Amino acid sequence: MTEWIPFELHTHTPHSDGRHTLLEMCQTAARLGLQGIALTDHNTVSGLIDAEAVSQETGIAIIPGMEWTTFYGHMLTLGAPYCEWRDLGQGDIAKGIARVHEQGGIVGIAHPYSMGSPICTGCHWEYTIEDWEQVDYMEVWHETMPPIKNHNVPALRQWTDLLNQGYRISATSGRDWHHSGDRDALAAYTYVGLEDTESPASSQAVVKAIRQGRLCLSMGPVLEVSLRVGGKSYRLGDEVPLQEVNSNEPAQLSVNITRSSVPERPWGADEGCMLIITSNLGELSRVSAAGRTQWIEGLSLEGLRWFRVELFGPIHGLLATIAFTNPIYVEI
Ligand SMILES: [Zn+2]
Ligand SMILES: [Zn+2]
Repeated sequence: MTEWIPFELHTHTPHSDGRHTLLEMCQTAARLGLQGIALTDHNTVSGLIDAEAVSQETGIAIIPGMEWTTFYGHMLTLGAPYCEWRDLGQGDIAKGIARVHEQGGIVGIAHPYSMGSPICTGCHWEYTIEDWEQVDYMEVWHETMPPIKNHNVPALRQWTDLLNQGYRISATSGRDWHHSGDRDALAAYTYVGLEDTESPASSQAVVKAIRQGRLCLSMGPVLEVSLRVGGKSYRLGDEVPLQEVNSNEPAQLSVNITRSSVPERPWGADEGCMLIITSNLGELSRVSAAGRTQWIEGLSLEGLRWFRVELFGPIHGLLATIAFTNPIYVEI
């Protein structure tokens, strides 16, 4: 069985420019119902020296990471030790990514469309990616209240374009958490799908699930998605082998809208909320999200390469995306 573990995947401490210590941050994280964080200080992993003790004291899993902070963009690394980046020029990002992969880590483009110079030098992604196969994930939701942040709109569009081109890149949410405070309740979380035999404290298991796209990003409930076709079930990040199933056989999709360990938010899957199935073919289906489980029958896999589920509804009176999943893929 898959369990959905709420993580905050982009954080800072005074080892770079954060204002809360790792202990203070993890204490707050525990209060907020999070079960894990990734520590991604700018250009250093020195904050990890406290990680084991803090994790023991707070029960919060800590994934080792770093935010490569360069003049041409910010790149998150997870699951790798410190990898040298200072000798790399603007044309060398492929070499840098390979270094992280060699160490068993994954890379994600942080806030690709944040304002760059002179507001925030290097915050806007300027590197040219020659081979998108190299990129493991994109931080499609950035900061608190990510659904209504302007710079996330082109990030979501670019991720969707890449999926349409056949790349399998995961999408994450990252608050870029520098200090705790009154915006704590406005953060989205990345829910990482782990098997009940896997521990959230295992960086390896978490990194693998992120790479595979077993992820739901949410400001509220978790969307548990299961596609049933040809007598088999497929989950987020899975690939349906079309050769093995009859493409004329309609598939059945179920979406469970579940509460998580995170304390209730003032918005959720209440009346007026809508589930939308989005794909490379555009919108496939739209159903009311009232109730716990929604079934979408007779989904055709013809021409489909990927689809994801999105939950729309009001957040503080604005119609916005409350949650969305990573895709289920179809192999053609
Ligand atoms: Zn950054
Ligand atoms: Zn950051």
